Amino acid sequence: MYKLDDLNPTQREAVTAGEGTLLLLAGAGSGKTRVLTYRVAHLIAGGEVPWRVLAITFTNKAAKEMRERISDLIGSESKGLWVGTFHSVCLRILRREIDKLPPYTRDFTILDTADQLTVVKDALREINLDDEKTEPRAFAAAISDAKNKLLTPEEYAAGSPDYYRRRAADVYRVYQRRLAANNALDFDDMLMLTLRLFRENPDILARYQEQFRHVLVDEYQDTNHAQYVLVNQLSAGHGNLCVVGDDDQSIYAWRGADIANILDFQRDYPSARVLKLEQNYRSSGKILAAANAIAHHNSERMEKNLWTENDAGEDIMLFQAEDGREEARFVARKIREITDLEGRRYNEFAILYRTNAQSRLLEEALMREGMPYRIYSGVKFYERKEIKDIIAYLRLLFNPADTVSFRRVANVPRRGIGTDTLEKLLLYAEEQNMPVMDALKEAPYIPGMRAQAVAAAESFSALMRAVILEWDGGSVTQLAETLLERSAYMDQWKDERGAEAEARRDNIKEFLSLTTEYDSSAPEAPVLGGFLTQIALVAEIDSLDEGENAVKLMTMHSAKGLEFPVVFSVGMEEGIFPSERSLTENRLEEERRLCYVTVTRARERLYFSYARKRLLFGREAAGKPSRFLAEIPQECLLTESSPALDPDAPMGRGFGTRAGRDWRRQGAKLINQDPGEFNVGEKVEHPLFGPGVVLSVNGAGGDAIVKVVFRREVKELVAGYANLEKMNM
Ligand code: ATP
Ligand code: MG
Repeated sequence: MYKLDDLNPTQREAVTAGEGTLLLLAGAGSGKTRVLTYRVAHLIAGGEVPWRVLAITFTNKAAKEMRERISDLIGSESKGLWVGTFHSVCLRILRREIDKLPPYTRDFTILDTADQLTVVKDALREINLDDEKTEPRAFAAAISDAKNKLLTPEEYAAGSPDYYRRRAADVYRVYQRRLAANNALDFDDMLMLTLRLFRENPDILARYQEQFRHVLVDEYQDTNHAQYVLVNQLSAGHGNLCVVGDDDQSIYAWRGADIANILDFQRDYPSARVLKLEQNYRSSGKILAAANAIAHHNSERMEKNLWTENDAGEDIMLFQAEDGREEARFVARKIREITDLEGRRYNEFAILYRTNAQSRLLEEALMREGMPYRIYSGVKFYERKEIKDIIAYLRLLFNPADTVSFRRVANVPRRGIGTDTLEKLLLYAEEQNMPVMDALKEAPYIPGMRAQAVAAAESFSALMRAVILEWDGGSVTQLAETLLERSAYMDQWKDERGAEAEARRDNIKEFLSLTTEYDSSAPEAPVLGGFLTQIALVAEIDSLDEGENAVKLMTMHSAKGLEFPVVFSVGMEEGIFPSERSLTENRLEEERRLCYVTVTRARERLYFSYARKRLLFGREAAGKPSRFLAEIPQECLLTESSPALDPDAPMGRGFGTRAGRDWRRQGAKLINQDPGEFNVGEKVEHPLFGPGVVLSVNGAGGDAIVKVVFRREVKELVAGYANLEKMNM
């Protein structure tokens, strides 16, 4: 049952405020989602019909949770509520109404990202832009960007002197015509077409305005322009709109979210009532003080101050490590110390980092300590495509008969060795009983090989020989660098914009850190063989047994909305966090909000750490502490420096405790969740990459590799770690 007593006075006011427009601008952990949930329950309990209430959340997972909470509060009365994401709500509307937008009909199909790229390529061909240098993904991203801003091709091109943009508009026009001819929608069309439907059919809009007598939106600060307009239109008649959000937590501008939606809310809705929730129920006093101080360094924000009745709590700790490896070791040991001393479980800990590439050292440290951990979102370092590719190249250089690696990279990047040619080469090698790399040299004599295929095979062979010659037995890093350069591997994403391409480049650079580290540990010859053996061992541990009690690792972005008793915020260095890009592209304020989000995830304890020098992205850099650290009241902060480099020496105060060493004997245990089975064609949603469709599934259960096409990228994810939500549409 639901009781208004469970709310503080302002929360209660927000829940019981009757008709009208309401903005609840509330800091982290102040109960925004709780208010939204109670408000829906209160409306229904007061006699409102469930299907007249529309509540919009950021993810399908959040929608599911909200539905469950409402049902806990008022039981079966909640049946029929409209709770969902923007996409799922629009889809529901279009399934009923799209025939008012000819030539679309109600049995339209939704294109996944792979299909979408195919259509982009077709469009490029149609207007003769399909040369080798053109990157279809970049055009797909431009189209998506235009649609999120509700721009037609003509509007997108209008007045722009930018050549690229005008070409993109041309592609967009042809692309859209082809979609319509196929009765197909891409993800962005769901919002765009719903809005067009409303614009061209005022009667339909009026019907939905009439139906949804109450519209509620969570995480309003991360809405984009199209979503803003949709909310605005649906609530225009009655004005019963309740949005909750925190401008300090707007962290998706890079994906089209517009912070102005919340900052200008009062201007757009002059009659809106604005309530602020300022009591935080989540974090200790010191953690909150740090969060407040960070938020105050931004200029573009609405003034608010979080306070709490919670105890001041422990000091926030800042650990200064010599290097990234020591930092990782510090985190692992600290977790062990706290679990030993306080009897905490591993799943009370979260390690948050800025980029996925940072997870490798942490994973290794946790593994070495025999601690179970789970990585949320993103694939483990060694399972990433580009890392697997480069390892396959090295294996092939080491062992010219390695057909598995040959299959993997013979045509990556594309060099004209198609499936057909590949099979012929493998067959020939098998028949002649020779290493497949040697078969390449004999390509001219292989029956049925066309001249082009022969040339492709010979040039691949020449490439690999050139790499070996140039390397001449130097370090593994030299070899990897030569390989990357000669094979032009990185050029695959050269023209690509967006986070995915950037992540790939970062991962490759991080791989070079790994080789540099190996080289400097002065291994015995044979160098390459030793290196490959070492990484094979690390990768082997990746597939161990399952369980539940695990330390959580994730990026700061994917931690939004969540809370943990103990949080480690690692890599607090200039150039990492804030990231180098945010500094050059003037996105420091968004980066600082991300810091605020990170800090406010912590309930009881918060640890920062940074390394004085770090090998990241292939080079060693001297680490300057992040400017965000200086923004925290120093009286809340306890600094500790690296005491010793001896791996077995106790680190700092408290590290001497070694109670309960039993964990050591348990060996490494890696945990993954049971995701259920994924099916090809199924719609899924990922917290970071958004909605997507399953392209292929390899293997079963938590270890299955699920290939998903998201709106802007294709990802191979390990089912158990991927944090993929099944999306019911
Ligand atoms: P975020 O900004 O991180 O999304 P939020 O504002 O949505 O946070 P909630 O997740 O709704 O906050 O609440 C944070 C925590 O505080 C939850 O554990 C919630 O149960 C608790 N909480 C909120 N309000 C109250 C209250 N009045 N009494 C007790 N606990 C509360
Ligand atoms: Mg929330």
